[in-house]
Amino acid sequence: MSVSCHLYPCRSDNYGVLVRDESSGRVALIDVPEEAATRKAIAETGWTPTDIFITHHHRDHIDGVGGIRSSYDVRVVGNAADAQRLPRLDTAVRPGDTVTLGDAEFEVLDTPGHTVGHIAYISRTDKLAFVGDTLFALGCGRMFEGTPSQFFASLQVLAALDPETMIYCGHEYTEANARFAVHLSPDDDALLAHVDQIVQKRGQGLATVPTELTTELAFNPFLKAGTADAFAQLRAAKDHF
Ligand code: ZN
Ligand code: FE
Repeated sequence: MSVSCHLYPCRSDNYGVLVRDESSGRVALIDVPEEAATRKAIAETGWTPTDIFITHHHRDHIDGVGGIRSSYDVRVVGNAADAQRLPRLDTAVRPGDTVTLGDAEFEVLDTPGHTVGHIAYISRTDKLAFVGDTLFALGCGRMFEGTPSQFFASLQVLAALDPETMIYCGHEYTEANARFAVHLSPDDDALLAHVDQIVQKRGQGLATVPTELTTELAFNPFLKAGTADAFAQLRAAKDHF
């Protein structure tokens, strides 16, 4: 393991992540949902941020960027195509680019659907995926800007990663997503057992993130949708659930 991750809850249901490259000591913040919570996570870990990787422009993912930048010498990384609605970028990336964090490398994947400029950061070596609001545990983001075929393609790209990849998403929405998954597959005993574990974890105040891709491939209805049309129907059904 060349990088370590520290997940912290913030706002009402957001997660931020600190990612530390062990060899160089560089530390990336994956989104900065809220300055105060991020400062607390920095203090608790003792990890000084050197980089900020932004997944998308929504306020609950970038609100703390300016505050952190005012105290730390950080490089802010985000999608060049969305630069006009992101905080000032030091490194404007494009899908397919590789972002380095010391010795660690993160591939930038285009994941439009929740927003058109949404990107994900992937470490194939460490089997980590920072997916923002594209894929959630047992769910996916709301389709605010993209089309069903765009969003479906984004999920297919994530589904094709190494199944052992740990998925770090931007929100703790798992229990609500689980209710929808159970509504769709009420007789799936394996799903019901998985949901029991989720309810137990949440009852103890524990995070259900990260989640392994294998688990999502087995139970996430949006990853099991076989076509863009099927995905569109599911997304609409969840919106009205
Ligand atoms: Zn969002
Ligand atoms: Fe969000």
